[in-house]
Amino acid sequence: MTEIKILKNILDQNRHRAEDNRQVFNKHGILALNFIASPGAGKTTLLEKTISGLKGKLEFAVIEGDITGDYDARRLAALGIPVVQINTEGGCHLDAGMVHKAFQDFVLDRTDILAVENVGNLVCPAEFDLGEAFKVVVLSVPEGEDKPAKYPLIFSEAGAVVFSKIDLLKAVNFDLAKAREDVRRINREAPIFELSAATGQGMGEWMDWLVSKLNEQRKFNSTQPFS
Ligand code: MG
Ligand code: ZN
Repeated sequence: MTEIKILKNILDQNRHRAEDNRQVFNKHGILALNFIASPGAGKTTLLEKTISGLKGKLEFAVIEGDITGDYDARRLAALGIPVVQINTEGGCHLDAGMVHKAFQDFVLDRTDILAVENVGNLVCPAEFDLGEAFKVVVLSVPEGEDKPAKYPLIFSEAGAVVFSKIDLLKAVNFDLAKAREDVRRINREAPIFELSAATGQGMGEWMDWLVSKLNEQRKFNSTQPFS
């Protein structure tokens, strides 16, 4: 009983903090995205290619969540964008309070897209709202098409689903139709992108979607639309 209550309190507190974050992002016309995936799905590479693909058009800021170290943060900082590293020291997800502290370092009025790369796993990051506009779930084809069926919560919460490393499709026998079907069964709305950050296949469609979502959000909050 007590344990259940504690968990509920933690989640309630997180929800309030997430709402505060969301208001700040809306006020500054920022599209905040929470990238969730298993380790090695290609989140960082997707971010690298997305940020360089939209360079000169959109300003990015990145919050990197890792248990320890700053390997990915260094890769992204090399693109000349502001990056804040959060080390959870064993924690397997980011929460809204950590994100709140992290974005104090950014010039919010100069930020179009805030990308949060969550700690790599498909389980508990689904439970913690960070104040993002969307969760983006990245599933690389070498992981297998069974993941949407095995981790339904995160796929049902997703605002977009990315099947990454699509250039490896033939080599790994990933059943694309089955994967799409399983995502659709639990999530009717999220667009599903099939792309390879390595070859560039499908990247255009993905980046166009980001720009359209940013404009939609700004129109909705009547802040200045981009372009
Ligand atoms: Mg990474
Ligand atoms: Zn966790």
